[in-house]
Amino acid sequence: MTHGGAYDPRRETWSCPACGREFGKRQSHVCAPALPVEAYFAERPAVEREIFEAVRGHLESLGPLIVEPVGVGILFKRKRTFAELRPRAKWVALSFGLNRRAEDARITRTTKTNTARTYHGVRLTSAASIDDVVRAWLTESYLEFAG
Ligand SMILES: [Zn+2]
Repeated sequence: MTHGGAYDPRRETWSCPACGREFGKRQSHVCAPALPVEAYFAERPAVEREIFEAVRGHLESLGPLIVEPVGVGILFKRKRTFAELRPRAKWVALSFGLNRRAEDARITRTTKTNTARTYHGVRLTSAASIDDVVRAWLTESYLEFAG
């Protein structure tokens, strides 16, 4: 790897030479290697992987995507991190950013930032939880928030 990292114009990503993680743009971060997806799921319940595959499958249909398993969960990035999956005891918490505040009974948590950006939390209990409504939020997040 070259000093200063490698920009991949095809995938529109920059990879850090120190830790190998990919980002949508060159940015400062705490260097820590990402886990391979297989290693992340090796000791985890199958339902968590099924939920992950449903989310990833939808997002990959939209365009370039960076998937980064870390200690607390899995990050989905484009130019910025726009969605996360974090395992909890009884569900997987999906968080996604929108440039507005969405209202829905399934949204159990919102975190407003100091701009119009709002992160929304939804509890996923199976791959079937990723239905048309959740896919539409993920699409909006990918197209309007992530870039
Ligand atoms: Zn790094």
